[in-house]
Amino acid sequence: MNDDNSRALYDRALSVMPGGVNSAVRAAIEPYPFFVQKGDRGHVIDADGNRYIDWVMGLGPLLLGHNLPESVQAGIQQNASEGPMYGTPTEIEVDLAEFVVRHVPSVEKIRFVNSGTEATTSAVRLARGYTGRNKIIVNQGGYHGAQDSTLVEGDVESVAPSSAGVPQSVAEHTIPVPFNDEDAVREAFEKHGDDIAAVMTEPILANYGIVDPDDGYHDFLREITDEHGSLLIFDEVITGFRVGGLGCAQSEFGVTPDLTTFGKVIGGGFPVGALGGRAEIMEQLAPSGPVFQAGTFSGHPVTMAAGLETLQFAAANNVYDHVNTLGDQLRSGLADIVADQAPEYTVAGTDSMFKVIFTRDGEAPKNAADVKNAETDRWRRVFWGQMKAQEVFLSQNQFECQFVSYGHTEADVEETLEAYKHAL
Ligand SMILES: *Cc1c(COP(=O)(O)O)cnc(C)c1O
Repeated sequence: MNDDNSRALYDRALSVMPGGVNSAVRAAIEPYPFFVQKGDRGHVIDADGNRYIDWVMGLGPLLLGHNLPESVQAGIQQNASEGPMYGTPTEIEVDLAEFVVRHVPSVEKIRFVNSGTEATTSAVRLARGYTGRNKIIVNQGGYHGAQDSTLVEGDVESVAPSSAGVPQSVAEHTIPVPFNDEDAVREAFEKHGDDIAAVMTEPILANYGIVDPDDGYHDFLREITDEHGSLLIFDEVITGFRVGGLGCAQSEFGVTPDLTTFGKVIGGGFPVGALGGRAEIMEQLAPSGPVFQAGTFSGHPVTMAAGLETLQFAAANNVYDHVNTLGDQLRSGLADIVADQAPEYTVAGTDSMFKVIFTRDGEAPKNAADVKNAETDRWRRVFWGQMKAQEVFLSQNQFECQFVSYGHTEADVEETLEAYKHAL
């Protein structure tokens, strides 16, 4: 497979961009990533003309695949050519806000921002402002974007920044606990209960392999936060409008958080984030309340149009049926292959998310430590390249999720399963 153009582009990129990329994980592919020239339904074509079945889908946003339906294209084009933006409100922000409020159980009011990171940063500030407390509980291996409060490692006893540049004094307000570990959450509340502003969790750990919550785990989080006057924040940046359809993962689990953060799918492929929740809490945001939050590009008309038309298309067509059915076919096909060839591995995921975790004991991971303990080097250094050589593009490492889109077909699934058979 020729990659001369990608190599030359990465060479240029290394001279002018740190690590040659604009987001760290893109450089996880060694010795260098391929550069994409364009997308085509469920496929991408790289700078050297190689075509791959694309299960990365922009790392989550592209529910509909690379070819956007006409209505989505039209909304984007119209708002791009007429504006593109104004610094004063537009109708389309209200349209998308109404759509989300109508479909997502926890959301009475919403604020749009420009990335998932901005959404979770604002949600943490809002939870602190609303409760007058400082600490947040997060999950080890949970990802809430590149924000200071959550770039931490440790446990209930001791915490430290996981990135240079984050002060210890900031990290100290965050309490990391293992996913699915009720005792650790109880312990954190026993120690710090009256200073815990919020528990923030992904409904499904989707940035660290894929790890499902145990039955009742989210009910437990709902109860213990209520008991202590803390907020429950679901970070649905990945799961929002992907798991549980238009009701998001919270409707699937039947647990209503106080605040929800969104990103990825809700912008239809354009930069986006949002936070929503109970009106009483959301009203604490400026200008109606004292918690400052603002953004030049927030509610950008092109993004709002892309998001609204994408979600309306999904509501009016069999998008979720399509992606979830293909997801089922992938997972059951993979389960057969794994049973046959690598019984120590596990197939994870739900709806349109999937991943084979290279576990060592055939046990589905319960938390981040279980995923970390998998054969992560084999995944990234050996397996990923074998899949690429068969023209299947999987996410860059063992930890990132993979996604089915409306652009994928049964033929894509079959070819992909064949490739796994050879590579596993
Ligand atoms: C991707 C992601 C984020 C960060 O969103 P960005 O748009 O990359 O800033 C936050 N939380 C979760 C759960 C995510 O998957």
